[in-house]
Amino acid sequence: MIKDVLVIGQGICGTFLTWWLEQKGLSFVVIDQDRPSTASRSAAGLINPVTGRRIVKTWMIDELLSFAEETYASIGGALQLSCLKPARVIDFFPTAQMRLAFLKRLEEDPQYLELPADEYDWSSLFHYELGYGMVTHCYLADLPGLLPAWRQCLIQQNVLRPSSFAPGSLVVNKDNVQYEDITARHIIFCDGIESFHSPYFSRLPFAPNKGEALILDIPDWPSAPAVGSLTPIGPSPTPVIPIFKKGMTLAPWKDGLFWVGSSYEWSFTNPDPTETFRQRTEAFLKDWLKPSFRILDHIASVRPATLERRPFVGFHPQHPAVGILNGMGTKGCSLAPYFAHQLVEHMVNGKPIRPDADVRRFTKILSR
Ligand SMILES: Cc1cc2nc3c(=O)[nH]c(=O)nc-3n(C[C@H](O)[C@H](O)[C@H](O)COP(=O)(O)OP(=O)(O)OC[C@H]3O[C@@H](n4cnc5c(N)ncnc54)[C@H](O)[C@@H]3O)c2cc1C
Repeated sequence: MIKDVLVIGQGICGTFLTWWLEQKGLSFVVIDQDRPSTASRSAAGLINPVTGRRIVKTWMIDELLSFAEETYASIGGALQLSCLKPARVIDFFPTAQMRLAFLKRLEEDPQYLELPADEYDWSSLFHYELGYGMVTHCYLADLPGLLPAWRQCLIQQNVLRPSSFAPGSLVVNKDNVQYEDITARHIIFCDGIESFHSPYFSRLPFAPNKGEALILDIPDWPSAPAVGSLTPIGPSPTPVIPIFKKGMTLAPWKDGLFWVGSSYEWSFTNPDPTETFRQRTEAFLKDWLKPSFRILDHIASVRPATLERRPFVGFHPQHPAVGILNGMGTKGCSLAPYFAHQLVEHMVNGKPIRPDADVRRFTKILSR
């Protein structure tokens, strides 16, 4: 079998890479093992234009938001799935300092921030004492809908192999790679945390970050026509989904359930769910949420984050047939569509990859 590209992994990166390869008419085959606890399967799916305690604008966000809107609409159109919903973060101030930081930031630059008309209009559902601010122009990606739907589409086209990729069976030549019966011009690794151990890319400055979340059933949550049975805000024809935050984030999940998380751990011994997180989060929820809830699941995964918080995109300086799309950290939902497109444009039209994302910024390290 001769293909343009052999893709390893179908998380968010592999999904958008194969989407763009198909759009540009390149042939490909994907190997993905369908592991249960990947980062993409654990993610809430939130795209938030601001970040951190100082509520600063997320890197490249103006460009990323419009690109994400268009790309999710196109792939969703092909799959007959509405996989990106407009959202708004209801940011309950956990401390008086956080309230002040929000107000200061709102005064300096109101883009993406707003104060509500009534700061206590969510008090039938939550306990909170210091009011809230809103982050506008957020999105919620429906990853539990998108990833399996795209997988099914690839299976129907006979271009997805549900197996484990064995690095020892890969032969890399200057102009192509061979793996089992496949010869391809390129192999591109979209294998998330597996790249930490890759013979080609393990020297990159990855900074693995573990995150945990609980899946909740909240039977008395008010039902509404929006996804996840959350009350839509405003009269807009496309309801804006409220996502709630007070240190932890509460967002709609599949099947009318809710996702609550997450932790950000740089130091951990294994990727499994911990009793500490469960107990801490359960106690927090009892203080925060007014309706009763049941914990149905507890998930954990490791984010493929990087030391400089910038992705790894492009081709190995010494092995031009070997590429990578990885390092999306906490922002896979907005970064993956954009950088998958850059990588494919680079392959098809020779366009440059942004220098601060191009993996060739590590040429010295990768050439050792
Ligand atoms: C708890 C948590 C919450 C998060 N919330 C958000 C959020 O709200 N918004 C956001 O933007 N980001 C979020 N993230 C980050 C986001 O999940 C990641 O940036 C993104 O999922 C990384 O995608 P990926 O495709 O690089 O890797 P992965 O999702 O890990 O995908 C890699 C794929 O490769 C396959 N694979 C690996 N090795 C092999 C092999 N040898 N053979 C075959 N297949 C293989 C795996 O099965 C998997 O399908 C969150 C992460 C976590 C952990």
